[in-house]
Amino acid sequence: MKPPLHVLLCSPRGFCAGVERAIAMVEAALAKHGAPVYVRHEIVHNRTVVGRLEAKGTIFVEELDEIPANTPHPVIFSAHGVSRAVVEDARSRGFAVIDATCPLVSKVHHEAALHAANGHHILVIGHAGHPEILGTMGHIPTGQCTLIQTLEDARSVTPPNQPLALVTQTTLSVDETSGIIAELTRRFPHLKQPKKEDICYATTNRQTAIKSVAPRADMVLVVGAPNSSNSRQLVATALAHGASAAHLIGRAEDLSALDFTNVQTLGLSAGASAPEDLVQGVITHLQATRTTTVEEVITAVEDITFKIPQSLSQPTA
Ligand code: SF4
Repeated sequence: MKPPLHVLLCSPRGFCAGVERAIAMVEAALAKHGAPVYVRHEIVHNRTVVGRLEAKGTIFVEELDEIPANTPHPVIFSAHGVSRAVVEDARSRGFAVIDATCPLVSKVHHEAALHAANGHHILVIGHAGHPEILGTMGHIPTGQCTLIQTLEDARSVTPPNQPLALVTQTTLSVDETSGIIAELTRRFPHLKQPKKEDICYATTNRQTAIKSVAPRADMVLVVGAPNSSNSRQLVATALAHGASAAHLIGRAEDLSALDFTNVQTLGLSAGASAPEDLVQGVITHLQATRTTTVEEVITAVEDITFKIPQSLSQPTA
């Protein structure tokens, strides 16, 4: 007889509104213009999603100079957003650009640009090199922002003597970021902060769900990609909130590398760029060796959707 396994399935998990919109925009562009369409950077950080879109005729590039000059095919910016320099570069090359930047990332770009126009030096909380941070910092004039990655950075930063403002990456750890913001606010009481936090609803909700599951779980698994910031934060959040072990896995096949000997209760979630069929694939895989019961742990119900632009949803005249 197979040993029992109780799965605590986090809800919400997986795709957020920004990811669904970005994927829908690539699919709509393929339907409207035909293959190929070019996408700068992975449209969302998930190899399965990228592979499925490649199979339909999407060509992913890292930089615009990889795209043939004067191509008539659309060039799509990923959900993470791009800098102004990239927008201008695409324009100068004459590309037909479709911008799939998540509206919640665009909101941060606008905040950052407004602070800069108002003469603020901007403290940007985020991870160096992440495409979203490259895009956000690329909306601020050179020299007018400082990247803060850690609490230690917040303790030691010495910004110029001018009004200060704050923006953050949308996919950070809620707990860690609140500590960083508290330190910056203590040191710079007049720091201008967003009216509503920049960390997005999807990141916050997925972390809340995993916090409620972690203390009950012998192990927590997060389906997601190593380059997905919000997926990595889910693993860290699970460990910080009582999970004995937590791992990031790409798909069901990765389970074979893990030791389930002492695991009776398993927490399961997925990053905002991981499709639900990968989560269900993990459950199916577990069922092959364990008598599996699934308890969905619901900590929020999401009803946010972002429409794709009308120009893509309407057929060509
Ligand atoms: S994680 Fe948040 S900011 Fe990023 S695409 Fe999803 S909704 Fe937008």
